[in-house]
Amino acid sequence: MTTTMPAPATFEVTSPATGQVVGVHPLGSTRDVEDTVARARGAADWWASLGFAERARRLDAWRGIIARRATELADLVHREMGKPPADAMLEIAMALEHLAWAAKNSGKVLGRRSVRSSALTVNQSASVEYLPLGVVGVIGPWNYPVFTPLGSLSFALAAGNTVIYKPSEYTPGVGVWLIEAFTKAVPEHPVLQVVTGDGSTGAALCRSKVNKIGFTGSTATGKKVMAACAESLTPVLMECGGKDALIVNADADVDSAADAAVWGGLSNAGQTCLGVERVYVHDKVFDEFVDQVVTLASRIRAGSDTDAHIGPMTMPSQVDVIRRHIDDALDKGGRAVLGGPDAVEGRFVQPTVLVDVPEDSIAVTEETFGPTFVVSRVRNMDEAVERANASRYGLGVSVFSRKHGEDIARRIRTGAVSVNSYVLYAAVPGLPLGGVDDSGFGRVHGADGLREFTFPRAMTRQRFPSVLPLTTFRRTRLVDSLVRVLITVLHGRN
Ligand code: NDP
Repeated sequence: MTTTMPAPATFEVTSPATGQVVGVHPLGSTRDVEDTVARARGAADWWASLGFAERARRLDAWRGIIARRATELADLVHREMGKPPADAMLEIAMALEHLAWAAKNSGKVLGRRSVRSSALTVNQSASVEYLPLGVVGVIGPWNYPVFTPLGSLSFALAAGNTVIYKPSEYTPGVGVWLIEAFTKAVPEHPVLQVVTGDGSTGAALCRSKVNKIGFTGSTATGKKVMAACAESLTPVLMECGGKDALIVNADADVDSAADAAVWGGLSNAGQTCLGVERVYVHDKVFDEFVDQVVTLASRIRAGSDTDAHIGPMTMPSQVDVIRRHIDDALDKGGRAVLGGPDAVEGRFVQPTVLVDVPEDSIAVTEETFGPTFVVSRVRNMDEAVERANASRYGLGVSVFSRKHGEDIARRIRTGAVSVNSYVLYAAVPGLPLGGVDDSGFGRVHGADGLREFTFPRAMTRQRFPSVLPLTTFRRTRLVDSLVRVLITVLHGRN
């Protein structure tokens, strides 16, 4: 009698634009995740032992492969999640900048450095270095399937960790592509692996006792990830949702501000964690700003043809969320100066700009994640700052003002602020990216992004015996009285 093994479970990925199947991938089980973690553990010592320079060389090789095949990758992003290939190319360009930065700067940021000792510890030479955690799990979203995961993968790898990546079920092919490219640059050991699947696969990764989870996704899922990780005290990095505001002062360049609002609100069909969803405009320039926004936004069209500016909604369920937000805004007295309920055409949503929307409308309080935004009139910048800060999210804000931009920006409670531009803090490789409150905690990018995937190890080396031996039962009464005097001398005059 012959027994046949059941075929491994798989799932299909369909194009959000056409509904056609664009890929079939394994549905990773708990067992698959555990096996992958075991392989990653086996590779961890080797990767860590290569040191910063050799790892950087390998990461640079990976970067070269991605760069040379970027058109192929951009097409795959387009097929899986629907954004225009040219926009996919932009996210690839930004992701590669961060990868280059992580590789180049890991030694400088994380390598051993001396720390000054103090009056009481003058006989100690002190140093600190940042060591890899071991195996890191990265769980990513679909909206920027290259830029977002690479923000964690590049930094975790440069810091010396082996990594397991669980891409979104909407964009697994992009995840597999990235890992295959890495394997060409690092063929010896499974340093970076992918496990495709759905939410249950991500949940298994959270329970797999990896040394850290780098999560990017919605706040609701982030809470589930934290709860699962809490069981094994697995630390987490949380890059969650946003409800970003753009502020326009009376002295702003209105044309630039309108251009930024339209790109920030509509690009990627609004499916951007840092997307502009609320705009607060000074009364003096409100009408001019709205006119300009409507002129610019009415030229933008959602579609699947090559001339379309934005693609479909990647997740079918998002269409209902967007419709609900528009309806609620209009029910509460808001007006659509562009688009409106009819803008929702199946999986495509045409640009929608809402005004006169009360601040308690869900279009103002909840993440919409669609090509719609609300423009509100404010009396002054105090009101703009207060309203921008009133959100439970705290990812990014843009401020437009010729003279007072930085002053306004410094009053904003979000992880990043851009003055007279939109989102460019996410493109400067040395800057950390992340949020506060419901937008999460921890940082990707920059020195903070490297340290995020390490633990600091402090070290002291005794250079000569102390004239004031403190940590010994052989301590004398003379030493005790000198300590008392020292306390007064060092701290008592404050
Ligand atoms: P989700 O929260 O739905 O999913 C994110 C990832 O978590 C996916 O890989 C998903 O897998 C996985 N997942 C789902 N359930 C679980 C679970 N129980 N345990 C572990 N993992 C799980 O987010 P989206 O993919 O829809 O992404 C959009 C969200 O991401 C938006 O809120 C956006 O603001 C946010 N985001 C934040 C960014 C930031 O930098 N702060 C950047 C980009 C996006 P699967 O898809 O297979 O279900």
